[in-house]
Amino acid sequence: MDFLSKKRVKNNGHAAQYYVEDSHPPIISKEEFAAVQLEFERRTNLRGYSKTGKSKFTSDYAFSGKLFCGNCGSKFRRTKWGRGKNQQILWICINHQITGACDMKSVKEKALEQAFLRVMNRLIGSKGALLSERDGNDVGQSANEDVECEWVWRDRKREEFKAYLSTQGSLLDKFDEDLFQRLIEKVKIQSMVEAVFVFRAGNEVREIL
Ligand SMILES: [Zn+2]
Repeated sequence: MDFLSKKRVKNNGHAAQYYVEDSHPPIISKEEFAAVQLEFERRTNLRGYSKTGKSKFTSDYAFSGKLFCGNCGSKFRRTKWGRGKNQQILWICINHQITGACDMKSVKEKALEQAFLRVMNRLIGSKGALLSERDGNDVGQSANEDVECEWVWRDRKREEFKAYLSTQGSLLDKFDEDLFQRLIEKVKIQSMVEAVFVFRAGNEVREIL
């Protein structure tokens, strides 16, 4: 149909050609592409932990790869102790578990979660002072690009941390895996009753387990 003349025109191949060109939408639209990109970022930044503490997107737990032995430097691994109702989730120095060469005792997952919660609530509680504090930005010149990148990265993390604190209106009432992942670079386990939380922003906070 020719819509200008409202006359049926002989199909000389033009209509068919038009149809082919116009009915091939891109496999995904720009908007869909942007949405997919956002989803990738979301999964990277926010790992979507389920109630069991296990990530929905990876095989990791919140503490996976984050705990280090203050005694020997080894990473910690997750392990279960006991059965049924009395079962406890523990994190244990891999060196201790495999070789016995390190005498670090295991720590309870619940104790680590509660310790992080207390640390965060202390920080949120004193955020007024923290936010008005001037950054000790004595970066200076450096010949080493890696060190400079590290500074830039820390600066950005410090800004993110401050942004988080300034928008966090109330104290936290439960452990938040995503927040832990976002803010914490690592946790040094000093003993079965003491840990040091190392923030990506650069600050370190000691806490009793
Ligand atoms: Zn160890």
